[in-house]
Amino acid sequence: MTYFDHNATTPLCPAAEQAWLRANRDHWHNASSLYREAGHTAQRLDAARERLAELLGCEAARILFTSGATEANNALLLHHHHGQRIALSSIEHPSVLAAAAAAQLLPVNEHGVAELSTLQQCLEEWRPQLVSIMAANNESGSLQPWLQIAELCKSHRTRFHTDASQWCGKLPTQQLGECDYITGSAHKFGGPKGVGFLVMAAEEEKLSFLKGGPQEQGRRAGTENYPGIEAMVTALEHYSREEVAQQQSSLRDRFEQQMKQHFPSLRVISEKAERLWNTSLMVMPQHSNLKWLARLSRRGFSISTGSACSSGKEGSSVVVQALGASQEELRRVVRISSGWHTTPEEWQALEQAFVEVGQEL
Ligand code: PMP
Repeated sequence: MTYFDHNATTPLCPAAEQAWLRANRDHWHNASSLYREAGHTAQRLDAARERLAELLGCEAARILFTSGATEANNALLLHHHHGQRIALSSIEHPSVLAAAAAAQLLPVNEHGVAELSTLQQCLEEWRPQLVSIMAANNESGSLQPWLQIAELCKSHRTRFHTDASQWCGKLPTQQLGECDYITGSAHKFGGPKGVGFLVMAAEEEKLSFLKGGPQEQGRRAGTENYPGIEAMVTALEHYSREEVAQQQSSLRDRFEQQMKQHFPSLRVISEKAERLWNTSLMVMPQHSNLKWLARLSRRGFSISTGSACSSGKEGSSVVVQALGASQEELRRVVRISSGWHTTPEEWQALEQAFVEVGQEL
């Protein structure tokens, strides 16, 4: 199988797999217990928190480990900022959109990017208490100007959250600590499923959404998933290398150019925006995305119709919808997302498979 759906989830990277196995074999004790071995697990957990803090450019005490990005987004928006005035971009992940259903939605421009002028107006006129804008979009890969947004929000004394689930592991993370709140998820960057993090604005902020134990400073009760956390941090350390970005983005760009030659009225969403190096969201000129997906799958290629959470439901791309596409266009959206080790041959084979499926259809 040739895998082009890394924005949905990634295979475990070998270093993370080793770290997970070692942690489960040697340090499986409950970090809250009082004997020596448990103390060792607790120390390793502290060390993993420090290593993640180093990667994110924030204090370790701000990090709260969770089961993934959905939990982190829900904890922040549904619990911590419940009832507050919240502004979101219109292209947030459903775990943000649904957790802040009463929020004001900020439109994006024609390239699928949140504009600072729109946000500034909202900050001045509506005075939200929290702004949440993702770092990189899961469907189109468009990068959002989160660092400038963090500064703008700071100057208006408004808290800023960024869902960096798709950014982490693909682009440098050291400045993310400038944001008040950060969400991340291990399985998007070669770590295991079921582990992620939420960075809080400050250590002393009161948030308690899972009750019944003192873990995570009483903010999230439940036995810590030390093996998962160790593997997550190892994966992020492992995948934070910049040379991959250049190699992979040129392969992706070449693929898109070729596809536009084969299918002249094909449209690439956010083509003119800065994007993640691995993502291509295309509106095919003809035929439903499910037909493309099924036939490509039969040939051994895994792609998506948009975001994984909504695939299976035709016409569900949040981004293409926010950009004002028709229902009919929505049914023709396909998403390709490569990985850290995708080869030029795999890109060429995918292009060839699209051509064959096009002829077949
Ligand atoms: N936010 C973004 C931007 C995502 O891409 C995803 C995964 N589709 C999530 C949140 C949810 O992540 P998790 O699977 O860790 O709950």
